[in-house]
Amino acid sequence: MNKAIFIDRDGTLNYDPGYVHKVEDFKFLPGVVEGLKKLSKEFIFIIITNQSGIGRGIHTENDMHKFNEKLLNELKKEDIEIKKIYHCPHTPEEVCNCRKPSTKYIQHAAKEFNIDVKESWVIGDHPHDVEMGIKAGSKAIYLLTGHGEKHLNDLEKNNIKLNFIAENFLQAAEFITNNK
Ligand SMILES: [Mg+2]
Ligand SMILES: [Zn+2]
Repeated sequence: MNKAIFIDRDGTLNYDPGYVHKVEDFKFLPGVVEGLKKLSKEFIFIIITNQSGIGRGIHTENDMHKFNEKLLNELKKEDIEIKKIYHCPHTPEEVCNCRKPSTKYIQHAAKEFNIDVKESWVIGDHPHDVEMGIKAGSKAIYLLTGHGEKHLNDLEKNNIKLNFIAENFLQAAEFITNNK
């Protein structure tokens, strides 16, 4: 079976000025490429992203696909492969079954890519990222990049039991590779 890292996109891999969707706004956060390279020896990568900017009419589904393409191309230049990007286009008000912290896409990915969820990790900058991972039975790391700092209190308030809080993606990757 494969072990995976389920990765959030905005504020985790790339800078997020808010509903980021323009290709020209694409920029990796520091340490991301290096961190992914470390993890790629042992894990496959799946991105799971809430894209409510689509449901809110801020940008289109196609804008998101173009942005994803840019991200995947930049990673390919570094020899890093993302198996698949799953996205939820809905707003919270739509009460869909795919928006994080829903575990729907972890379950889909587990089937599609033969993933051992218990031996896998979630990395994200929002409480709903780590919540999704823990609900699914994975291990979870919360990042202080992106929205991380801002929502740290919610994390403590909701008593979410995660494995580690990391300053950035590289620190998360080092924690994972050192704690097998
Ligand atoms: Mg995020
Ligand atoms: Zn959804």
